[in-house]
Amino acid sequence: LQLTLAVIKPDAVAHPLILEALHQKILENKFIIVKSKEIVWQRQDSERFYAEHKGRFFYQRLVEFMSSGPMQAYILAREEAVSQWRMMMGPTKVFRARYVAPGTIRARFGLTDTRNTTHGSDSEDSARREIAFFFPEFSVA
Ligand code: ATP
Ligand code: MG
Repeated sequence: LQLTLAVIKPDAVAHPLILEALHQKILENKFIIVKSKEIVWQRQDSERFYAEHKGRFFYQRLVEFMSSGPMQAYILAREEAVSQWRMMMGPTKVFRARYVAPGTIRARFGLTDTRNTTHGSDSEDSARREIAFFFPEFSVA
């Protein structure tokens, strides 16, 4: 089985119904929840995680948003976990998601291109790195 890091971002955690719907969606799609926890980032955690986007026009609002309130982080296991979770999320940009991939999580629940409900690792390598970032206490033997 493959592991991925899935994060429900502050916009979605703020709404109990959306958090519940997303949790159900994870279970319905045959993911095994290996670990899950609520986490609140300081601004510097946000800056460190999104360092690759430093200088982009949305960087400030992104780091601000990601440290604005609690998130729910999951280590998920499944066959093709990385691509499956990304497929369920849909495209980053909310209007693209709504037009091109209407049933996806970001299409249904995304508010803006930044407040887009979920994060998912984009490769096995980033999954390893991001799992270590969110769950330093978890180590794969
Ligand atoms: P994530 O990494 O959160 O899964 P992603 O891989 O689809 O999203 P990235 O390009 O890595 O997208 O961007 C990281 C995050 O930065 C996005 O999820 C979104 O919150 C924000 N973001 C990306 N592009 C834009 C944009 N054009 N305008 C506003 N915010 C953006
Ligand atoms: Mg990304």
